[in-house]
Amino acid sequence: MKKLSSRTESFTDSVIRRMTRVCNRYGAVNLSQGFPDFEPPAAILKRMEEVAHEDFHQYAVTWGAQNLREALAAKQSRFMGHPVDPNSEIVITCGSTEAMMAAVMTVTDPGDRLIVFSPFYENYGADVILVGAEPIYVPLYPPEFNFDPAELEAAFRQNAKALILCNPSNPSGKVFTREELLFIASLAEKYDAYVITDEVYEHIVYEPYEHVYFATLPGMWERTLSCSSLSKTYSITGWRIGYIIAPPEIVEVAKKVHDFLTVGAAAPLQEAVVPGLLFDQSYYDWLRGLYTGKRDLLLRGLDDIGIAHTVPQGAYYVLLDISRYGFESDLEFCELLARDVGVGAVPGSSFFREPVNHLIRLHFAKKDETLLEALNRLESIDRKIAPRR
Ligand code: GLN
Repeated sequence: MKKLSSRTESFTDSVIRRMTRVCNRYGAVNLSQGFPDFEPPAAILKRMEEVAHEDFHQYAVTWGAQNLREALAAKQSRFMGHPVDPNSEIVITCGSTEAMMAAVMTVTDPGDRLIVFSPFYENYGADVILVGAEPIYVPLYPPEFNFDPAELEAAFRQNAKALILCNPSNPSGKVFTREELLFIASLAEKYDAYVITDEVYEHIVYEPYEHVYFATLPGMWERTLSCSSLSKTYSITGWRIGYIIAPPEIVEVAKKVHDFLTVGAAAPLQEAVVPGLLFDQSYYDWLRGLYTGKRDLLLRGLDDIGIAHTVPQGAYYVLLDISRYGFESDLEFCELLARDVGVGAVPGSSFFREPVNHLIRLHFAKKDETLLEALNRLESIDRKIAPRR
């Protein structure tokens, strides 16, 4: 038989999602793949029940149901402080996963170069390979995960077509400062590059940090594809509703890509989520408070156990330093952690371009009782996983 496509040879399945299956196998508390174990807002669930008996069972408009686009445009105009047109500046996608893939396909041709910060959310690597583009990785240096301005400029200078910006950042928890973003903007302008953002954690940012929408920086609306999703904001990761916001000339092209990739996100769910988009500021304040509490609970617990970790400024991930266990393979460490300690984590190596094997990622989008159970299990870590050096 002929060989299957060579473009699929250079990446594996998603380690993040594989770890969920590992957790299920061992009955581990799943702090690997980032999704909540608590309910979405009641108003959304109520609307979901109604929608089942209304006329939303056939395709929505391919670039998104009118109601949803209007509600999203109103909400994002408010948060971004920039008017978003519901008809010409939005494409609703199947999660931000499709939004990112469609955005990359909208911007690049095979052989084009794309800048990706490392560590990075693992989908970007596969996105770039699947479209036949070439990644240029630029390191973010711990503990602050800052980039070196000269290294970033050197990357732009290699004729980069676009930069992928995950802000707030998964897995580092970095929230880019306005100054950093302005510097990136100046390079995007100078080297005439697009910026594709992944802002799914836009509402999960901890005091005193603030989220700045890249597209709203001076001159950046024209060259930014803002990708995000309703998954994290409304605790509906399984609904697969995401979007691209960009100026009309870009959205025209993104609509074509999206149309042939997936036709559209699930029509009943597009309708059911609308009440969420109509929530006022108090919902977003509540969400921030909720995740601040969860972050503090997990970090305090890790401190009590004595495990060194990062302190996220945004998003809901923390990187734990496992150097003292002396494992060559962080994947093997995570397998043992799930099997013997009963806690699921993602090996850090799946996020880094550099050869990193001493970090694992936990997420805290879980009920407090789930986090306490995970901490309880982690207390026995040194008895269950013997340090190897
Ligand atoms: N963003 C989530 C994570 O990093 C997972 C998203 C997904 O699996 N689609 O764990």
